[in-house]
Amino acid sequence: MPTALITGITGQDGAYLSQLLLEKGYRVVGLLRRSASADVIGERLRWLGILDQVELVDGNLTDLSSLIRIMETVKPDEIYNLAAQSFVAASWQQPLLTGSVTGVGAVNVLEAVRIVRSDARFYQASSSEMFGLIQEPVQNEKTPFYPRSPYAVAKLYAHWMTVNYRESFGMHASSGILFNHESPLRGIEFVTRKVTDGVARIKLGLATQLPLGNLDATRDWGHARDYVRAMHLMLQQETPDDYVVATGRTTSIRDFCRIAFSYVGLNFEDHVVTRSDLLRPAEVQVLLGDADKARSALDWAPSVTLEEMIAEMIEADLARHRAQSRS
Ligand code: NDP
Ligand code: GDP
Repeated sequence: MPTALITGITGQDGAYLSQLLLEKGYRVVGLLRRSASADVIGERLRWLGILDQVELVDGNLTDLSSLIRIMETVKPDEIYNLAAQSFVAASWQQPLLTGSVTGVGAVNVLEAVRIVRSDARFYQASSSEMFGLIQEPVQNEKTPFYPRSPYAVAKLYAHWMTVNYRESFGMHASSGILFNHESPLRGIEFVTRKVTDGVARIKLGLATQLPLGNLDATRDWGHARDYVRAMHLMLQQETPDDYVVATGRTTSIRDFCRIAFSYVGLNFEDHVVTRSDLLRPAEVQVLLGDADKARSALDWAPSVTLEEMIAEMIEADLARHRAQSRS
């Protein structure tokens, strides 16, 4: 039975990736950063009904010694580095933390792998945010990067270090340049979940307004369940490489709102208000990915449409709020 180590197992992708790997017969071990709220931290794994099927080990991306010890005791065959300070907006408030976790933290994991498990396969969670101020209308693996936030700069460092460790040490290190992907398990601070949660609250009479920032930005949104399949496929290839993972469709925040509110029979213009304090110091206005390489080399394709995903997210948020108001 192969062993996978997942950093960021308590996050959205960590939960769906754990579910996928458990279904495939893996032993799944997750790195858990110590918290005073240990009882709520496994919420996403619990939501998927798999909390008791994964092993959790204490560690932190900023503590190389913990990572080395974990590599020695867990002996993973595959390492998925998903842990990060992952929220772009927060990265202007905490640029140094973002640099040390999202950037240097990834190199700590690479170092621990190089020192202890150099034959293991490594996946780095790179991001379409690295394209930032886009240099080509449709972005693929050859598109030059232009990061626009401390988060994106940190991700770019981690990305190039992954490439460098592959080229320098022959490590099986691959990087997935994943475009935005969402689900009912997406953090509530991200715009998609903020909208679906807002729609649910407004529909249930718990709120009347939804404050948002820039409605004109567009994103290429896919479903996290589809995107973790691509991560796994990358590590099954003979040769490590980098792949863009995207749907090839871009939608504005405004149109996302239109689709989401109309799903419950509401008009978004009656409820969405824009607030200047929710605008960002520098914006990524458009992202649109070309995943042709992943489609041909990995035989990967997204299976969930944006409309289906929005419906799933709203239904989950409605159910959550109904359950909360009952208790
Ligand atoms: P989440 O924010 O949901 O999860 C982040 C995870 O990182 C959490 O498990 C968090 O733990 C953990 N973490 C944060 N800091 C540390 C630390 N110092 N040590 C150990 N663990 C830490 O992110 P997603 O699941 O959405 O994304 C997974 C990865 O993919 C991230 O690296 C993200 O930047 C990247 N990515 C995501 C995209 C998306 O659209 N979702 C697009 C492209 C890339 P805790 O629960 O304790 O907070
Ligand atoms: P990102 O692409 O990783 O930054 O994902 P987000 O979901 O945080 O943001 C996507 C886009 O939505 C960005 O262009 C934001 O500026 C825009 N946006 C507009 N209003 C909001 C808001 O209230 N919250 C967030 N998170 N994003 C918003």
